This record gives sequence, structure tokens and C-alpha cells, in this order.
Amino acid sequence: MSDKRDYYEILGVPKGASDDDIKKAYKKLARKYHPDLNRNDPKTAEEKFKEVNEAYDVLKDPQKKAAYDQFGHDAFDPRRGGGAGGSDPFGGAGFGFDMGDIFDMFGMGGGRRARRQGPERGADLRYDLEISFEDAAFGKEIQLEIPREENCPTCGGSGAAKGSAPETCPVCHGSGQEEIIQRTMLGSMRTARTCSKCGGTGKIVKNPCDDCRGTGRRRVTRKIDVKIPKGVDEGQRVRVTGAGEAGVRGGGNGDLYVYIFIKPHKLFQRRGNDVVIEIPITFVQASLGATVQVPTLDGAVDLKIPAGIQTGTVLRVKGKGIPNLRGSGRGDQHVRIKVTTPQKLSARQKELLKEFAALSGDSVNPEQKTFYEKFKDLFT
Ligand SMILES: [Zn+2]
Ligand SMILES: [Zn+2]
Repeated sequence: MSDKRDYYEILGVPKGASDDDIKKAYKKLARKYHPDLNRNDPKTAEEKFKEVNEAYDVLKDPQKKAAYDQFGHDAFDPRRGGGAGGSDPFGGAGFGFDMGDIFDMFGMGGGRRARRQGPERGADLRYDLEISFEDAAFGKEIQLEIPREENCPTCGGSGAAKGSAPETCPVCHGSGQEEIIQRTMLGSMRTARTCSKCGGTGKIVKNPCDDCRGTGRRRVTRKIDVKIPKGVDEGQRVRVTGAGEAGVRGGGNGDLYVYIFIKPHKLFQRRGNDVVIEIPITFVQASLGATVQVPTLDGAVDLKIPAGIQTGTVLRVKGKGIPNLRGSGRGDQHVRIKVTTPQKLSARQKELLKEFAALSGDSVNPEQKTFYEKFKDLFT
């Protein structure tokens, strides 16, 4: 069980309380714990205030409330996998990759950059790269041209012209933030927002650098070497540390993420570390058995087809698949057999086939025989 307090208990209402009662209880408690009204102990008040809001957020929503009534806190706990969708019992759909990861990376999670005064790490960059089936299998070193923001070399990123320096912003006095007082139904609330004069930098450039027009930044296209590892698969990403945009005010560089897309191959398909291929053989080869040449990633190999093979049978060529991304070894190649029917027959060929049929009689194929017995049963 979770060590979190019960939501009903937090709001001081019984399980099964009406929506109205829940709302009333919430309003009362929100007012009681509002941080602005608890100047003597704001820290405890803020914690309580958050707890009350979290409880109300769930209990006011009929869907969330139903999930909570059934699963408790587990309904919203990603580690416990409550509900069908894991971390999000209402979203449902299971994505093939970690969305959270991507949102974090590109700052889409919201709430980033509330403060812009200190050093700020440069943005991460994403590059979508399409590579061949073979390059994904065996890896490759490539060079990408990446346009990115860097600090202006003329002014060193300050934005101020040579011989001058940025001055402290007169509106925020260098803090980068303006304070706003908002009136809400719960009383006045003090919030801070990014300074409108300096954009949060806390500094004003009066004499801008000619090369960057005072921004301190320049857009440069750089050649970046990227090593694509052997065995990489569609949708995976390769990180190049520090190859993203330059940091601001001494912050580190962001990273470059190269997302891998694999071009479809004419013959091969990929299933994990195995390569799948379909090869056509004649019905004569299928009946009598044969040795055929099969293409693999390492060139053609001889494959023995046993006599009497059926369409759809899969033969395995060991060790001719994709190398393992981590460690050694390779997958296999799966060869799916497709028996083809001849479409153009000479008179002589037809004659021979008719003779063949006459010789075979009913015993031509045991599988066919059982099928027709079942077929007859259906109508008698
Ligand atoms: Zn400059
Ligand atoms: Zn300012």
C-alpha cells in the first residue's frame, strides 16, 4: 500500500460524500491552508495546501474518483502499474517508447525556465536520420551538418559591443523577475513572472555587439561526427554529448539526439535481431528437395530444401541475422518458403502432369484426402 494519506481523510469527508460536500470541504481547507494566510508557518501550510489540492483534483473528477475508489493511490502510481495504461489509467494506449523522456528533453513538460538568471544549459537538439538496412546492421560513422545556436565569439555571449558591458536592468534590479499580485477568490496571491524589460536576463545591453545585434548568440552550422552502432533499430536514438546548443551564462552545452529510421530493404525484413526473407521455389523443387542460393547480409549461402516442403515453412540460417547492439553474437535469418505454381506449360509438360495425376490417384496428398473427407461430412 501507498504511504500517502487517504484523499477522503485529507478533505475530512466520508467515502461516498456528494460532489457538493467535497467541494465545500475543499474550499474551506484551501482557505485555511492558503500560504498567503499562514505567514507564521508558510512551509507546513504550503504542504497541506498541496495535499488538499491533490485530493480535490482527483475527487472532483468522476473518472479519476472512480479509479481511486477502486484502486486507491495505486490508480495513479506508475511504478505499480495501476489500471490498464500504467502511469495513466485514463490515456490507455501503450506507446512503443517513453513519451515522458521526449517531453522532458524538449522542454515540453511545461514550467521550465521560471528563473533565467543563473547558468542555463543549452537546448538539446533532435536530428532524424534515415539509414540503410545494412548500415543499421553493421554500424557506420557518418558526419552530420547540424545548425545550432552558439555564443557569439565577438562579445563572448554578453551581447555588448567591444569596450562596453551589459548594465543591470532598472525594472527588476537584476533579479530577472517581476512580482505581480493577483486577486483570487481565496485572497491575494503573489506570483513572479519573467521581467518584461530584460526578458529575464537581469541585464540590459545599451551598446549592442555588431556581430550578433546584442543577442549574444549566433546560428552556426557545424559538422558533427556520429557513430551509429551496429545492431541499432528503428526508433532508437544515439546521443552525442555536448553537441547540442551552447549554454547561456556559463551553462553547459545541450546534447544532440540522433533518431534512427531504417529504410525498407527490397528483400529483407527485420524482426528484432533476426532477418526475415521469403524465397520462391518451384513445386518440383518442393516435391523432390533441392539446394538453392539464398541472399543474406553476408552474401549468398546455399540452403538445403528438404523434399516435400510446404509453402509457409520457415527454415533457419543460423548467425546470419543482425549483430547484437550490446555484446557479441548475431540473430538468425529466417527463410520462408513459397511454393509457386507454373503458369505457362507446354503441351508436353501438361501431358506429363496428367500422367502424374493419373499415377497418384486419390493418394496424391494425405492432407488433401482428410480435407475432402471433412468436406463430404458437411453435406451428408
Ligand atoms: Zn556578439
Ligand atoms: Zn529586468
